[in-house]
Amino acid sequence: MKQLMKLIKPLTGLMILVAFTGLTACGEKQPAAQQAAQSAEQPATQKAEKEVIVWKLAQTWGSGFPIFGDAVITMADLVKELSDGEMEIRIDSANKHKAAFGILDMVNAGQYEMGHSASYYWKGKNPSTMFFSTMPFGMIAPEQYAWFYYGGGMELMKKVYDKHGVYSFPGGNTGNQMGGWFRKEINTLDDLKGLKMRIPGFAGEVLSKLGVVVTNIAPGELYTALDRGTIDALEWVGPSLDLNMGFQKIAPYYYTGWHEPATELQFMVNKEKFDALPAHLQKVLTISMQYAAYDMYARSYHESAVNWASIEKDYPEVKIRTFSPEIISAMKQANQELLAEHAQSDPAFKEILESQTAYMKMARKWTEISDYAYLKDNIE
Ligand code: CA
Repeated sequence: MKQLMKLIKPLTGLMILVAFTGLTACGEKQPAAQQAAQSAEQPATQKAEKEVIVWKLAQTWGSGFPIFGDAVITMADLVKELSDGEMEIRIDSANKHKAAFGILDMVNAGQYEMGHSASYYWKGKNPSTMFFSTMPFGMIAPEQYAWFYYGGGMELMKKVYDKHGVYSFPGGNTGNQMGGWFRKEINTLDDLKGLKMRIPGFAGEVLSKLGVVVTNIAPGELYTALDRGTIDALEWVGPSLDLNMGFQKIAPYYYTGWHEPATELQFMVNKEKFDALPAHLQKVLTISMQYAAYDMYARSYHESAVNWASIEKDYPEVKIRTFSPEIISAMKQANQELLAEHAQSDPAFKEILESQTAYMKMARKWTEISDYAYLKDNIE
């Protein structure tokens, strides 16, 4: 910590341009005069030249959205504290910018310096982005974090997002997600045919191949879509977030997961804006994002565990199910076929697929002899 504080000590004499662009369009912003007042509290030696860098972040989530939104607040608070007030990040939720799935475009265009979303939402623009959220039958969170930071994942993510004018960073992991909420029990492959389901990422393509009518819907509209019958089923996250959304009241069958074993959210930073930051603030921002991401992983686990522990008492209407071996096997086969198809026509996709496949094969051996070996004899 001492070293870190030394690193982020304000640079005296450095003139920093304040990014006030577009501030008037955002009602939450502090006026420039207030910023000046804050600067005036700085020690006399820095008083004259120190200005606050104010950035804006757009998130996919609605205002006050738990866990995901909290991760963004954690990051922004940390940036302000570690930079000793030199940098601030203002957060706009989907209620404000009205573009839950427009985050990548807005950060690329510089309309926002930063964004918080999920990489697989951009599969329509670039299928390779899906690998940086999670993949069906893919790595679990510890394996995937190891891949990101030590197995070449960050480099591959940088390569993919270079084309979109942003840097992408892990933005918080949900851990293993539940397979979703269904109005009717799914017993056979026939039950999937014609089923209207909200499910993003590569899992959506897999289910589409099995006859499901797949759609993606912004988080704020999920309950209404399910309630009105626009969709018959949906997956969202898991007990950490799902039960508060009330899905169990209208679709009581809750399936275990196969499709999102380690969903990583995403911080995005406009490349030009990041490159123009002084080195110590780049470091502050990077550390704050990584801390917030890992903190969200721990928080997600906690919230899921707490909700799950009381599920029978608090949510007696929930019926827990697991897809049959026949359905899981068909999903696996569809997954393999689709991966092979994409890889054949898209060299970038192939490169990342090969990296993840090889890494998972290696890391899974360790998972098996460590966590799995331990757990299989210790589940009561
Ligand atoms: Ca999900």
